[in-house]
Amino acid sequence: CGIVGYVGTRQAYPVVIKGLKRLEYRGYDSAGIALLNGGIKLYKKQGKVADLENYTIGKALDGNTAIGHTRWATHGEPSDANAHPHLSGSGEIAMIHNGIIENYASLKADLLKKGYHFNSDTDTEVLLNFIEDIYKNNGGNLEEALRIALKRVVGAYCILLIETSHPDTIIAARKGSPLVIGIGKNEHFLASDATPIVEYTKEVVYVNDYEIAIVKPDELILKNLGNEKQTPFITKLDLEL
Ligand code: GLU
Repeated sequence: CGIVGYVGTRQAYPVVIKGLKRLEYRGYDSAGIALLNGGIKLYKKQGKVADLENYTIGKALDGNTAIGHTRWATHGEPSDANAHPHLSGSGEIAMIHNGIIENYASLKADLLKKGYHFNSDTDTEVLLNFIEDIYKNNGGNLEEALRIALKRVVGAYCILLIETSHPDTIIAARKGSPLVIGIGKNEHFLASDATPIVEYTKEVVYVNDYEIAIVKPDELILKNLGNEKQTPFITKLDLEL
């Protein structure tokens, strides 16, 4: 339902938690965050963002890259296990997703035959492992694996991915579910609408359907699913808090 991401020089955890709170008005049943710091640190809880914060007290929260999510369950009941982010089978990739993957059942059947296990009932975890299956066979190129996977996906999505081998990068994609990227100085903010971003920067890019964004602290690359670079169109926000 709500998506927030951060790459830059700040501590990512407080930025993402605050952003999730700004998106609370959309309604949700669970919340979670994944931080990159060495490996992936993953925390998720059914309930409010405040419950997630309580759960993370005393835990390892350092890191300059993070993705966070508030979930409105469509596939699988509200629960800790079904909350996002989800972790891929190898533990190398974490993903959050807004929307619905309509052909998840057939993708899941293929993955089960290949020996994949699932820790949740979500369509999201199916898409993640479908991406990882391609990734394992293409030498670990996540951007390419995502592009190939999305050509076979039916449904609506805004997704954010992080991987342990690229600790300063978030890869994002959307179709039918909004994604805004805020441009800062050596930092980028990603969210499903501008409300979590406006306090940090007024310069934003609205990602279009069928585009993939490769987002690093000092670089924002947009590509279409044909791997052709697109020129980001920067808009000035006139939103005030
Ligand atoms: N379909 C996904 C799920 O049920 C994402 C729901 C959402 O947009 O929050 O987990």
